Amino acid sequence: MNELILLKQGEMTLKGQNRRAFEARLERDVRRRLAELGQFDVRSAQSVIYVSSEGGGDMRTAFDACRAVFGVAALARAARCEKSPGAIFETAREYLGAALCRAKSFKVEARRADKSFPMNSIELARHVGGLLADAFPDCAVDVRNPELTVNIEVRESFAFVHGGAERGAGGLPPGTAGKVVCLLSGGIDSPVAAYLAARRGAALIPVHFMSPPYTSELSRKKTLDLVKILSRYCGRLTAELVPFARIQELIAGRCPEEYGTVIARRFMARIAARVALGNGALALVTGENLGQVASQTLEALACAEEASPIPVLRPVLTFDKREITDYAVKIGTYETSILPYEDCCAVFTPRRPATRPKLEKIKAAESVLDIEALTADALAGAERVTFE
Ligand code: ATP
Ligand code: MG
Repeated sequence: MNELILLKQGEMTLKGQNRRAFEARLERDVRRRLAELGQFDVRSAQSVIYVSSEGGGDMRTAFDACRAVFGVAALARAARCEKSPGAIFETAREYLGAALCRAKSFKVEARRADKSFPMNSIELARHVGGLLADAFPDCAVDVRNPELTVNIEVRESFAFVHGGAERGAGGLPPGTAGKVVCLLSGGIDSPVAAYLAARRGAALIPVHFMSPPYTSELSRKKTLDLVKILSRYCGRLTAELVPFARIQELIAGRCPEEYGTVIARRFMARIAARVALGNGALALVTGENLGQVASQTLEALACAEEASPIPVLRPVLTFDKREITDYAVKIGTYETSILPYEDCCAVFTPRRPATRPKLEKIKAAESVLDIEALTADALAGAERVTFE
């Protein structure tokens, strides 16, 4: 049996002129992921990518990997055959035979990309459905609510038969939406935010602020582990680890305690934006979530954002904690995020942070610091770590 994986695009078909470039990007991404898993042939035609095993690459493993590919709206394992009603029936009987024996009811759905095929979709579905009904008398035809749907797709060179497509990761292929800097703490929210931005086609530059000796090597490693998990979806990622202890010490020593968090956030925004501008990134992405903590009131968000010359995107702004957690579990970051190693923000937390900070007061409070020099020093001390 000639088995393949069909990968279907969703929104990319909307992209007009850019469509070819998007498809090529997607194909390249699929190829890159499968290369580590064995020998596979990857090719695309008419907005579908076809993956087949060459020399024993395991199809189940490949299918699992393809589930995580951004830009794939739906995917199915399918059997390929010659474009004739007889071959299509034989293939369905053989390939979906076990499923047809198990199921109580079925229907056939047919689609033709090739309009020169001698039967139209309805005729083909009826024809194959009739033959299958005879071959599997214990499985009733039920066009309304079947347990199994036998799908037939007649494409340019071959026909394909499968038992239903499942939803893919969705979104757009990595990098097709430009670059962003994602501010990655070791928490639950920011890896999810980064994932969601990447799923919309943003290439990520993760930036993490760390404050040794207040934060430990384990905390650093935890964040790098999160970057590594994200790289499974995004491909190569280079994270910037920015030393932040000096800035936090000075804020704690010289600024009113209640403004400490917002001033620290403003430094993060400034430094991250500097990294962005140096790398051609056009926005920051954070895991901020409306109302979650004192630093995430609308007033506090506005004060932090004002320090960034580029837009701040907040993919999880309006999610409930539960929704963010569900995502974290699904994408595989949760277990790492809940490890107890402290984040730099937790080290200098004010006892009573201002929940409604006023920008003018914040600016006055931070003006005692040499903002430019501190920003430049932090950037100069940054360490880069790349994951392939
Ligand atoms: P998270 O779960 O992502 O840590 P949070 O709900 O704990 O978020 P905060 O700790 O207030 O919220 O952080 C808000 C956002 O600021 C984070 O989502 C992240 O984008 C950014 N941030 C916080 N700490 C750091 C850090 N050490 N390095 C980089 N970014 C950070
Ligand atoms: Mg946090």
